[in-house]
Amino acid sequence: MSRTPNSNARSSHSTSVPLLDVHRQYDELRDDIRTAVDRVCESGRFILGPECNDLEQEVAAYCQTAHAVGCASGSDALLLALLALDVGPGDEVILPSYTFFATASAVWRVGAKVVFADIDPTTFNVDPRHVSALVTPRTKAIIPVHLFGQCADMTALNQIARQFGLYVIEDAAQAIGAEYHGKRAGSIGHVGTLSFYPTKNLGGFGDGGMLTTNDEALATRLRLFAAHGMNTRYYHQVVGVNSRLDSLQACVLRVKLPHLERWTEARAANAARYGELFAERGFDGVHLPITAGDRRHVWNQFVIRVEDGRRDALRQHLSANGVGTEVYYPVPLHLQECFRSLGCLDGSLPHTERAAIETLALPIFPELSAAEQRRVVDRIGDFFAAGVSRKVHAVESAMPQRQDVRRAS
Ligand SMILES: *Cc1c(COP(=O)(O)O)cnc(C)c1O
Repeated sequence: MSRTPNSNARSSHSTSVPLLDVHRQYDELRDDIRTAVDRVCESGRFILGPECNDLEQEVAAYCQTAHAVGCASGSDALLLALLALDVGPGDEVILPSYTFFATASAVWRVGAKVVFADIDPTTFNVDPRHVSALVTPRTKAIIPVHLFGQCADMTALNQIARQFGLYVIEDAAQAIGAEYHGKRAGSIGHVGTLSFYPTKNLGGFGDGGMLTTNDEALATRLRLFAAHGMNTRYYHQVVGVNSRLDSLQACVLRVKLPHLERWTEARAANAARYGELFAERGFDGVHLPITAGDRRHVWNQFVIRVEDGRRDALRQHLSANGVGTEVYYPVPLHLQECFRSLGCLDGSLPHTERAAIETLALPIFPELSAAEQRRVVDRIGDFFAAGVSRKVHAVESAMPQRQDVRRAS
């Protein structure tokens, strides 16, 4: 039975722990958000306008970039980055297969060739050594994804980009506020893409996205492509798309942004607490996420590895006991039906394929209580202690659940 953590949260009995509960953040900010929404309704300006301009400046400051350009979603942000950098047919773009679909679909949409690289199994981020092995004379860009809230190995990737003259587009949808050697996600490559989808660390009340860059000319081109290629009204310089941020999303995000640091600290505290709780128990064959040196992890997801084919059984056990979890991502992109024509074989990206089988995201949202975290770990303890692990293992594993509200992160 598929239950969405969101709708589940309020009515659920007290022992259940949702993967994410967006109500708690809303309860905290209800008055401020309603005031802001009223302001926009009274203003009558629903697309772009002052709320969007202000949010762009505030996000640019937060991400330590000179410019930020709002758009309709994180997926569109990737598409706009590729369009503005003139990536198209004949070009190749290297990206991880272990990511949300949008990272690859944007490349496909502009007619360039998607080239999938494997991950570093310790961080789940793209492996620069494999990226460098995949570079050809047609390679035009790399899209590192700062997966689950931790930056990819940007020194190595920027070095490859410099050596071969490639663009670096940071997919920072899961990583607003993450840092690499003190630099914020979205400020380290040529351009960064953000998502304000409700499950992201800065989540709106619908879709929204933004691009960050220090390159003024690129920012101007991004704006051009996001507005149907129209600089002067009804005069189209290039063929762009319609991808605008609306003022209602922007005003909600502006209420939330000043709280983001505190929420990020709360996520980090929750991650540390899981570390302690797991250390007390020492489950065999369960591995906690690793933060690489000189990085600030912002914990969009807390993703463990469960060895020996027990992941799905553990997930089923947790679900039956009221603990929300998710599998990001059960089918790596290189093995998706829609990309079959690329000819990627099963076994071609072993670390990616292993992650798809072993990883499980546990609740980590900022408002999660210590008691709830203990309950999560207790339920995992039941699974390993009572031999439930072996029993459930024999039964057919749970099918991945479909959850509309929670589809991606
Ligand atoms: C969420 C996400 C996106 C897409 O963002 P949307 O706003 O949902 O379109 C892109 N890349 C990654 C890695 C994501 O997690």
